[in-house]
Amino acid sequence: MTTNASFPLGQPGFVSHPIDRAAHIRTDSDKLFALEGHRDARAYVVHRDSLLVKQGPDGTRALVTLDEARKFGANPGTIFLGLKDGAAVFGMGISAAAAEDLLGRQDVMIENLRALAAQGKVPAHELSTIAMAKSLVSWHQRHGFCANCGARTSMSQGGWRRDCPSCKTEHFPRTDPVVIMLVTSGDKCLLGRQSQFPAGMWSCLAGFVEAAETIEDAVRREILEESNIQCTDVSYYMTQPWPYPSSLMIGCTARATSTDIIVDRNELEDARWFDRADVVAMLRRDHPDGHTGPHPVAIAHHLLAQWVQDTA
Ligand SMILES: [Zn+2]
Repeated sequence: MTTNASFPLGQPGFVSHPIDRAAHIRTDSDKLFALEGHRDARAYVVHRDSLLVKQGPDGTRALVTLDEARKFGANPGTIFLGLKDGAAVFGMGISAAAAEDLLGRQDVMIENLRALAAQGKVPAHELSTIAMAKSLVSWHQRHGFCANCGARTSMSQGGWRRDCPSCKTEHFPRTDPVVIMLVTSGDKCLLGRQSQFPAGMWSCLAGFVEAAETIEDAVRREILEESNIQCTDVSYYMTQPWPYPSSLMIGCTARATSTDIIVDRNELEDARWFDRADVVAMLRRDHPDGHTGPHPVAIAHHLLAQWVQDTA
């Protein structure tokens, strides 16, 4: 079963066309300085869960020159994301006040990244690099002080580290592993609804991997906690960076060994079994009861679409 042109089966948002991270340049401050001053340098400017986009006669453009970024009020601190066609691409943040100053302008907007991605206003091949910018900018904004001694830290290594001048601790950007799983029982699969989901939308259950926990154990624990379903045969499907703010979604499948659902209402609004025909209609968005599946930007859509294809 195909998904859509922007996100074909097995390629949700944020996974395709990764940039050359050119990590060896992060430690070369002279080279970084030269790249930042080069006229081909570009930047993605992010603000919370939103992305700055320029509006022009040719449509929407997220990659801006560093001069444009600074004129729009982006912070001077640039994060080196990597090289694209030999030119440097940076990530930059923007303050709430500067973002507010852009309201009402016709030539530039700050729009929710999830909506931009889902609507295809930003090409799918740019999303991986934008995710890097978003996760890193967010990390710097939230980690200005040393978790070890409380002193103010400073950015180093092109934005891939923060150093504490007091206790000398080096801090690295975090990535939080999350398991997201399609649990099946015969021709049925288990889906849940969180209260903040759009009306009618159902998706795979998910949860953070805990300290000293295997992926397999996290899948079994989350499913049991949220739905009281026991499962086995956990298999890896694929991963997806999810920059809200810095998760790595680990897509898995599992086979249920029980069927009676007890929903954890603290975590989910509801959970239930759907059969394959339901899921086909939900992904096509023509289910008679108005149920829908997750958008193709999300890995959950691909877990479902893969299952539908494999069981055809
Ligand atoms: Zn410190």
